[in-house]
Amino acid sequence: MVTFDTVFQEALGHLRAEQRYRKFRSIRMKPRSRPVAAWQKPDGTVQDVTVWCSNDYLGLSQHPDVQAAVAEGVELYGAGVGGTRNISGTHPAHIALEKGLADWHGKDAALLFSSGWVANLSALGTLGRVLPGCVIFSDAGNHNSMIEGMKRSGAEVRIFRHNDTRHLAQLLAAAPAGSSKLIAFESVYSMDGSVAPLREICDLAEQFDAFTYLDEVHAVGLYGPEGAGIAAREGVAARITMIQGTLAKAFGLVGGYISGSSAAVDTVRSYAESFIFTSSLPAYIAAGALTSLELLKTADPLRTRLFHQIAALRDGLQACAIPVIAGGTQVVPVLIGNAQQTARTSERLLEDHAIYAQPINYPTVPRGTERLRLTPSPQHSAAQINALVSALDRLATDIGWRKAQTRHPAPHAHHKASRHYATSPS
Ligand SMILES: *Cc1c(COP(=O)(O)O)cnc(C)c1O
Repeated sequence: MVTFDTVFQEALGHLRAEQRYRKFRSIRMKPRSRPVAAWQKPDGTVQDVTVWCSNDYLGLSQHPDVQAAVAEGVELYGAGVGGTRNISGTHPAHIALEKGLADWHGKDAALLFSSGWVANLSALGTLGRVLPGCVIFSDAGNHNSMIEGMKRSGAEVRIFRHNDTRHLAQLLAAAPAGSSKLIAFESVYSMDGSVAPLREICDLAEQFDAFTYLDEVHAVGLYGPEGAGIAAREGVAARITMIQGTLAKAFGLVGGYISGSSAAVDTVRSYAESFIFTSSLPAYIAAGALTSLELLKTADPLRTRLFHQIAALRDGLQACAIPVIAGGTQVVPVLIGNAQQTARTSERLLEDHAIYAQPINYPTVPRGTERLRLTPSPQHSAAQINALVSALDRLATDIGWRKAQTRHPAPHAHHKASRHYATSPS
């Protein structure tokens, strides 16, 4: 008889051998404690640690108004909705949030999903299927959720080098006559913090009549007027056909969305199985997100403080010759360039310095560019920044990765353009 567990152990053994078996760290945020959390160690003891890898960029998950809206929502509307959007699962809070998100992005309509991942899967999966003869032009650095959506759509996918508009122009020019073209890209790339050249991409899209699909997951709430994202900051939101976002990062909750023309959004609503056949977001989440949205519109002081802390961290790391990928966004990646050393550094930070930064490995990033992805927040203090910099300074010497800077001048320099970085391991 086959013992299936032997097969599973072997599969897991491959990941362990490559130092990319994922170990969850159990941490518990305490009331108003951000960025300090209680780490629940495997031996049952508990220790306070400073969290440096959360995407709750502004700390809104702990904002009293957001928490109150959620708590009140549970009481008023119940803990769950009890259905799909189509079958008793649409609540006025969903409608109000969709209207609020659409207005924020300057679009006609928006649609909520269980997560940002599901939003990308559903939208790209549907658009690539419905647009006749669709060819999708995809940035090599696109997130796994977009890759899965493109695969699901069955459309042909052509990958352009990360942020390389010359390469994109070549690929667009070479597309078959009569094909529908869709350009899929992010504004702030999640793992290296780079920003797409939005205006140039919009110019190309207009020249070649292409649909522009923009993932603003790491930008909504943080950039532009009222925090509406990089497209808003660059004044090109009206030129982007569809903007996708999440409620799980700067919004501090969970859930995802798309926004665009009424017909485009309605098509995704009407065709995407991953939207139709799943229960809707709890109404209390929608109520919390409406409160977050209002807070984000006037969160300039919080954003100013965030970017001040980002600059302080970046300056501190650079002063110690720590190999940090340069960029002006909230994602501050320390390039270690080797899975084993990255894992070791993360472990020592946690155990010796009470600092939590999860290692980022292949397939999330290309092999040889393993890193710690640091995310400051307005709540991180100068003392916490200094403690992190001096711990990393020490570990760079002890573990021996300071040299990574010269070995990897650019994060993507060694990567083939014909593949996505985040392709699932096969
Ligand atoms: C996190 C992330 C998503 C998925 O968002 P969730 O709401 O966490 O599912 C989508 N795109 C990018 C670029 C992301 O980093």
